[in-house]
Amino acid sequence: MENDPLRPFVEDPESSGLFFDFDGVLSDIVEKPSDARPAERAREALDALADRFKLVAVVSGRGAGELLTWLGDGIEIWGIHGAQRTFKGEVLLSERAEPYSELMERVRTDAEQRVAELGIEGALVEDKGVMFTIHYRATRDRSEAKSVLETIAEELAAGYGVVASPQKMAIELRPPVEFAKSQVILQRAREATLTAVAFIGDDVVDLPGFDALDTLENEGLTTFKVAVDSDETPPELLRRADLILAGPAAVVTWMETLASSVPLRG
Ligand SMILES: [Mg+2]
Repeated sequence: MENDPLRPFVEDPESSGLFFDFDGVLSDIVEKPSDARPAERAREALDALADRFKLVAVVSGRGAGELLTWLGDGIEIWGIHGAQRTFKGEVLLSERAEPYSELMERVRTDAEQRVAELGIEGALVEDKGVMFTIHYRATRDRSEAKSVLETIAEELAAGYGVVASPQKMAIELRPPVEFAKSQVILQRAREATLTAVAFIGDDVVDLPGFDALDTLENEGLTTFKVAVDSDETPPELLRRADLILAGPAAVVTWMETLASSVPLRG
């Protein structure tokens, strides 16, 4: 325990926070995003941590609604990179996202039409409220689908003045304001006056989450970066991690171990 980097968390859980990505971290990556489910015992492990630590949050690119269904309201849930959050079992659109909801609906309708006209089997548009994602993971020729769909996404972005951003096997279209996991981490860590913050991610979009931890470390906080390794995890995430876990099942075991080292509150 002497040199355990998690010691500050265990010794002062009342001022410690844990932020988790969902896909690839608490859930195995699946072909169709709607097929994803939390890994076995993930929900129970989150609740066990939330009973012990000041702040436990899931921050995801997904809509907060489905995460709420799967994970319950025992933790904080931030959807679509922070454009949504849950509050007492309800999903709210953030103040910064609200003004763009109508515009984004028009862009999505246009995207759905264009993607349908292409007839690429397996390509699909996922509505996330104020954003949407064009997926090509399930297409037969991913590299061809990627190039065609990225062209469409760029045309839509230019035409409507929105932002197209490449993701893992997908392209995300979002309003021209920034929503990022890093903002959620910084905002919540400061609001909750945390002294120790951990973030667990697996994807290229989680790198800014690590940046946020660097910022907090410069402000004097203790930080702990966890990378979950998959074929698609960027090398930089692994390089910068304090701990590398093999997949969602290993994450759940790690969460259970951490929870068991802290007595229940109260
Ligand atoms: Mg992920």
